[in-house]
Order: sequence, then C-alpha cells, then structure tokens
Amino acid sequence: MRLKDKVCIVTGAASGIGKEIALAYAREGGKVAIADLARDAAEASAAQIRAAGGSAMAVPMDVTSEAQVTAGVAAVVKAWGGVDVLVSNAGIQIVHPLEEFPFAEWKKLLAIHLDGAFLATRACLPHMYGSGRGGSILYMGSVHSKEASPLKAPYVTAKHGLIGLAKVVAKEGARHGVRANVICPGFVRTPLVEKQIPEQAKALGISEQEVIRNVMLRETVDGEFTTTADVAELALFFVSFPSSALTGQSLVVSHGWYMQ
Ligand code: NAD
Repeated sequence: MRLKDKVCIVTGAASGIGKEIALAYAREGGKVAIADLARDAAEASAAQIRAAGGSAMAVPMDVTSEAQVTAGVAAVVKAWGGVDVLVSNAGIQIVHPLEEFPFAEWKKLLAIHLDGAFLATRACLPHMYGSGRGGSILYMGSVHSKEASPLKAPYVTAKHGLIGLAKVVAKEGARHGVRANVICPGFVRTPLVEKQIPEQAKALGISEQEVIRNVMLRETVDGEFTTTADVAELALFFVSFPSSALTGQSLVVSHGWYMQ
C-alpha cells in the first residue's frame, strides 16, 4: 500500500494512461479523483475502482477552464480534506503540417496541455503547502518532450514546455516538500494513438501498418508499444519515492525510442 490514504487527483483519468494510473493508485490505497471532461466515462472509472474496494470520485472538469479546475479541486478537498498527489495528464493530439496548421487548433492543444497543467498545479499547490505534508506533482510529457516529429508542432511545443513548468514547481515547491517530475512515454495504444494511425497514414501517404512499423515504433529497440501498465508503474514509482532527492526530473519510458 504505497499510497495509503493519499488523496490523488488525476486529470484525463477517464481513458487510456490516466485511467490506468488511477486504477494503480487506488490499488495502492490512494483515494483517487477522476478529473475529466468525459463525465460518464469518469463516473464509470470511479465506479470500477469502488467495485474493487478502492476509494474514488468522479470530478467533471475541463482543464482549460479556470472556474472548473478551481471548483473541481475544491470539491476533492471538501470530500477528502486535502491533496497529496496531482497527475496532470489530460491531453489531445492534432496533426497537420505546420504551414497548414489552423491557429484555433494550435491554441486548443496548447490550452489543454499547458493551461491545464498550470491551472491544476495552481489549484493544488496551496493545499499541498498548507498541509505540512507536501506533495508530489507529475506531468504527462512524452518522448515529444525531448524529440520532434513532423506534423506535431503544438504537441511537441507543449510537451517540451511541461518540463520547464515541472522544474519551476520543483524549485518553488521544495521548501514546502512538494516535488514535481515528468513522465515521457513512447507510443501507447490508447484512443489518442488509435486516432492518429489513419490520420498519419493519410497525411504521409502510407499504409496504417507502415505508420505503426516505420513511423511510431521505428526507433524502438524491439518494435514494441509502451503499455499503459508501464506508464502507471513509473507513475507509482515517482509519487511514492520517499524523499525530495527525486524532483525536477523527466524520465522516458519508450522501449528505447529515445535514449538520454
Ligand atoms: P486518451 O485519449 O485515452 O485519454 C485522454 C483523456 O483526457 C480523455 O479521457 C479525455 O476525455 C481527457 N481530456 C481531453 N481533453 C480534456 C480537457 N480539456 N479537460 C479534461 N480532460 C480532458 O489519451 P492518452 O493516450 O491516455 O493520453 C493521456 C496523456 O498521455 C496525454 O497528455 C498524452 O499527450 C500523453 N501521452 C500519450 C501517449 C500515447 O502514445 N498514448 C504517449 C505520450 C504521452
């Protein structure tokens, strides 16, 4: 029970990576708030955790809305008395060549990844600072926090930006016992990636199998997708680490696609 009674907020936890992290945290004794735009799916994830004997609540939240993030974090604090862990994970992908990228889509992507991370962080920090227990914040980066790929200008920009945010949180949070780190996964077969396969095939003029083999997994050491379980294991490791030695870091979990 590495997270016994820790209050954990995971954004984007109704699906994919965030959901797997929420399930893993609940198995380790955490009380998990499933904060997501997708209200029904968030309720379903919370119900799944409760059915397995864990503690969970669904928190409807658009992470780009200052009012919704503030209200959502307040609801969690009211229910469970504080916040110990924030995983800022909500994200989307939009692909276009740069010269055609619609400005509205650029802004939408940056708002979810960067405004969302900022707003959730700002809402949680006072509770972590005030509790005397500190806390741990994780940002869901990507190999695209370190590397670029064609067609993904705002995603690569946002994912690099999260490393900067984590470093500032690590510095400002240190005297309050708050740590901040970034997980950088390679390709994981979630709905976000399933959607990209046909889009990239069309944009690059190649088959879907070629997108998987020659684009997504080409640089891995073994041609394998990273799994949601791999990412959840790392998310557990980071937040259950026992001291402030591990802060301001970013770690890549990608079957060797990117080696630091
Ligand atoms: P997913 O589509 O399965 O899940 C994303 C979740 O975020 C969904 O439940 C969605 O409803 C939620 N969401 C979207 N916009 C939101 C908003 N404005 N407010 C609140 N919630 C919102 O995707 P995933 O693959 O699990 O991605 C999760 C995170 O992992 C993202 O930040 C993504 O960039 C990152 N990531 C994914 C991969 C991958 O290969 N799947 C690799 C590296 C990083």
